[in-house]
Amino acid sequence: MAKQLVVGNWKLHGSIGQIKSVLGEIAQAKLQSNVGVCVPFPYLMLAKQLLHNTHVQCGAQDLSQYHIGAYTGEVSSGMLADIGCEMVIIGHSERRRLFGETTEQAGVKMRAALDAGLFGIYCVGESAEQRREGRAEEVVAAQLQVLQQLPIGLFAVAYEPSWAVGSGMVASSEQISPMHALIKSQLDERVKVLYGGSVKSNNAESILAVQHVDGVLVGGAALSAFEFVEICKAAR
Ligand code: PGA
Repeated sequence: MAKQLVVGNWKLHGSIGQIKSVLGEIAQAKLQSNVGVCVPFPYLMLAKQLLHNTHVQCGAQDLSQYHIGAYTGEVSSGMLADIGCEMVIIGHSERRRLFGETTEQAGVKMRAALDAGLFGIYCVGESAEQRREGRAEEVVAAQLQVLQQLPIGLFAVAYEPSWAVGSGMVASSEQISPMHALIKSQLDERVKVLYGGSVKSNNAESILAVQHVDGVLVGGAALSAFEFVEICKAAR
């Protein structure tokens, strides 16, 4: 089985019909690689059913920092584990930018995920402005602070510069490789570091060949079974 990890992030997309058709096709592909799909909460149980008997894991895109109680609208790590969900994306740039999620909150969510036995995918990355100002490394290092006490092996980090997300502008290997090296040096050499930001079937192979890249987090292209399966096949 490929060691590199490919994770799809469906974001706010999907319907019963679309989940059945895309995940049904992915199930047919009999992928031998290390793969996960993170769908909206209402479709998690359906995704589990469709991917049953495959190696593809199911994940959520966020969870609550609270475990139980009077928190209307929240979904806990324990609930996700209870329905068989295996992984969760935390601290995505869209959550930070559009919903004001802080690094501290993302850190608490990571702890909740790991305590429930979920594999956490913790997103970090700088904005275009922060990169222009030469602050990309500083920003990412600060976002990593909350992971210091977490057990290595139970989570991955996804480096997703927000200017590359959904923009068609992929970070270059000269930008990706040193940032991934920095993340590993801050945490541990063994931590898996994924790249995310406009990964498609036509650039996946070259991105996955970049030094220190242990996988990819895929947004838009994860909505097409053909695209997603091609990206999974590029994993080594
Ligand atoms: P994209 O999104 O592949 O559409 O750029 C990546 C992500 O947000 O995880």
